[in-house]
Amino acid sequence: MNRTAIVTGAASPRGIGRATALLLAEQGWNVGILDIDSAGSNALAAEITEKHNVKTHAVTADVSDEAQVRTAIDELEAALPPLAALANIAGVSSPVPYLDLTPDEWHRVINVNLNGVHYVTRRVAESMVRHGYGRIVSISSTSAQRGGGTYSKTPYSVAKAGVIGLTRALARELGPHNITVNAVAPGPIDTDIMGGPLTPDRRTTLAADLLVNRVGEPNDVASAIAFLLSENAGYVTGQTLNVDGGLYMH
Ligand code: NAP
Repeated sequence: MNRTAIVTGAASPRGIGRATALLLAEQGWNVGILDIDSAGSNALAAEITEKHNVKTHAVTADVSDEAQVRTAIDELEAALPPLAALANIAGVSSPVPYLDLTPDEWHRVINVNLNGVHYVTRRVAESMVRHGYGRIVSISSTSAQRGGGTYSKTPYSVAKAGVIGLTRALARELGPHNITVNAVAPGPIDTDIMGGPLTPDRRTTLAADLLVNRVGEPNDVASAIAFLLSENAGYVTGQTLNVDGGLYMH
């Protein structure tokens, strides 16, 4: 395949981004990695090149800084085949109760989880419009739909709800350019974002709310993202796909 998928937030060793980057490479995508962690991104790029016969390139950027994002995507575009897919996965959690929130915490979470998705998408969409093709998937959360309920609280729910609004508005505007835009809303997934690795007790408590007998794995989410980024998913746009063990039904 002579096409590239960009994955943000892929450097975390037990994260959804890493699972997604590896699965996309397995499916033949060339992979551009964008993360704030430079060593982790480079290590993943090296691992993908070793395991899969695809091109990879890693860049370091804070998604909440638009200038850094634009420079980073310029670099990925120069180094790799045409940008055809984007997975917006970078994100931060925030367990702070509403009445304890500082202005800094509010802005940090909105800046990374919502503005970051906008900055990356805006730059990548410019290239996709030029090519007349694109697939964009951004990670929301059941937190947007249920008002929290697992770990993170208000600004996280607000940002992740914003991702759904952004997804729908972009699906409408970019559709005529042959670009689909969707969101994936995970329920609890076994990564380190909920304050570190899940203890067995925590796992049991989280699973008690679900219709399946386990918390999710990064690959559960990666598989959904890979489907929505595939050419075959061209009739799906503006949607939010819940990958949450039945936590939220709508
Ligand atoms: P994770 O392992 O912490 O992955 C998040 C990744 O984003 C990390 O590689 C992190 O880098 C990177 N990142 C953080 N801030 C960044 C920034 N400003 N610029 C660029 N990269 C940044 O967590 P995860 O569980 O895989 O989360 C992935 C996405 O899924 C997030 O958007 C999260 O909100 C969402 N989600 C997760 C769950 C869940 O239960 N795990 C549920 C619903 C939604 P560092 O590690 O260096 O900080």
